[in-house]
Amino acid sequence: MARIHTLPTSVVNRIAAGEVVERPASVVKELLENALDAGPTRIDVALEQGGVALVRVVDDGGGIEPDDLPLAVAPHATSKLRVAEDLERIDTLGFRGEALASIGEVARLVIRSRVPGGEGAMLEVDGGRIGAVVPHGGAAGTSVEVHQLFGNVPARRSFLRAPQTEWAHASEAFVRTALAHPEVALSLVHNGRRVHDLPATDSWRRRIGDLFGAALAERLVEVESVDGDAAVSGFVGRPEDDVAGTRLQHLFVRGRPFRDRSILHAVQEAYRGLLLTGRQPIAFLRFELPADAVDVNVHPAKMEVRFREPSRLYRLVLAGLRTRFLAADTTATRLVPPAAREPWADDDAAATRTFRPFPDARAAAAAPPWRPAVAAAPAAPRPAWEEAEEVERASGEPVAHAGVAAVAGPTPDERAVQMHDRYIVVESPEGIEVIDQHALHERILYERFKSSVAAGGLEVQRLLVPERLDLAPGEAELVDEHAATLERAGLRVEPFGGATVVVTSKPALAGRTSAATIVREALDRLASASAAGGDPALLVDEVLHGLACRAAIKAGDPLSQAEVDALVRDRRAVRESHHCPHGRPTSLTLSRQDLDRQFRRT
Ligand code: ADP
Ligand code: MG
Repeated sequence: MARIHTLPTSVVNRIAAGEVVERPASVVKELLENALDAGPTRIDVALEQGGVALVRVVDDGGGIEPDDLPLAVAPHATSKLRVAEDLERIDTLGFRGEALASIGEVARLVIRSRVPGGEGAMLEVDGGRIGAVVPHGGAAGTSVEVHQLFGNVPARRSFLRAPQTEWAHASEAFVRTALAHPEVALSLVHNGRRVHDLPATDSWRRRIGDLFGAALAERLVEVESVDGDAAVSGFVGRPEDDVAGTRLQHLFVRGRPFRDRSILHAVQEAYRGLLLTGRQPIAFLRFELPADAVDVNVHPAKMEVRFREPSRLYRLVLAGLRTRFLAADTTATRLVPPAAREPWADDDAAATRTFRPFPDARAAAAAPPWRPAVAAAPAAPRPAWEEAEEVERASGEPVAHAGVAAVAGPTPDERAVQMHDRYIVVESPEGIEVIDQHALHERILYERFKSSVAAGGLEVQRLLVPERLDLAPGEAELVDEHAATLERAGLRVEPFGGATVVVTSKPALAGRTSAATIVREALDRLASASAAGGDPALLVDEVLHGLACRAAIKAGDPLSQAEVDALVRDRRAVRESHHCPHGRPTSLTLSRQDLDRQFRRT
């Protein structure tokens, strides 16, 4: 008996399905690509249960001839290339001819299609069994439905995560495609709820705004960089609009979203020194390259592509962003007192100051010197913000961050001095310690937030005037889903109608940072964390990290001696003060012994 045999088609398909179809998000991606390749003006996507129960993609593109329907679901059958050389210059998103065959193997697939001016037809494939082509009336274009993904493959179905997690991935796939193709109108409905409704546009900024909110889009900075036949263009965020995760970093080449660590590294390099550790810049970048400079035929499901000259692209990105950012004197950014940079103020002058991309030296010089108004603070126990506001009204000067208790107290046993507006040098019995002021303060605040949440006594400040927040489409669901988490962190968010919510409380320790800013930041973190399948207890922690980072003094903030002493004193009160929540060390020690040895005293 022969021991080697060719595998039956269904086994081949199922193996391919293992590569192509990982989860509902892969189905969304494949069906969207097919729809886009058909040259549509609009595509409507509907999902049920995160896409596990149903993914439906309807387009008004070129359609499939009835005779071709069985071929469309056959493996390695494609209308997109004929000969191997075609692979060298792929202009369509699909080309392997695997997607529909694979999906039909692991789900129930229903295709309805009609070419404009032709007869419509329908075909069903259920777990690899291909039905008959039957006539079907309907609009020109194609509708593809995928029911009960992995319904016939229990082993794989059991690997799917909770519908919420699958939904997070699927909507991410939609967002990426929608970003790559602003020229096509797109909509996304989940469990009957309309999440995105995106009109066709020739403005990329507009599409970004429709997806992530107009407020974000308006503040983006346009960038462009050209080197011979390679070009990159798009939009990046201002350094002060940094976010917690990489969710707002998107790269595209030849109409495809892709991921590339080297290019993202170049983006981060361009912001070096402008962002706090752990924060990420916003970047939407499109690359234009000749067809033979990029190979998209790397992996059917992964978002990787291969570039002929990766280092050239690295330089292109770095140069393009650097010239945009380093043209301004970036050290001046850090000179502006943080209170003046927070978008809390509502008068016009303050708003312009706040929204200046790179406050220049003139602005910094014009800003009042930042001095904590220790003496002026009234004795009665009142919320910190109230004090601060009062003092500020009286003196016309912004005041120090909440949380650095600049109250008179015993000076610590250790002598401490601030250096370069960012380090605190402490004399200790063991030697000399250099402390990163931001990292330490962040850790102190985080520990305080955490222990008060644990004790159920996080001090919450009810806002006299609730702050309005316009949510980007995807964010409304996050607010719904995580209302309890937000509330545990002191943030009460209530519906206000449409995509608008109001924030009615914030943690008192958040100081002057606007409640809307805190909520937006929390949503960023929740989005990244829940896409990673976050556990609810950790989600609260995520929000607290964000709060602590926001509220903490920054590198570059000058401190009074009272504040320096307070920080050093508080340090002893918190556990684990050696690392800030992001895991950076908060201090370095030069031991006496080392010093003595260096100076040959031993
Ligand atoms: P590929 O996209 O790699 O060619 P698929 O299995 O995804 O392979 O699709 C097979 C074929 O079915 C495509 O080549 C195309 O001709 C046809 N097809 C699939 N979806 C659509 C659609 N929405 N509109 C028109 N034709 C489609
Ligand atoms: Mg395809």
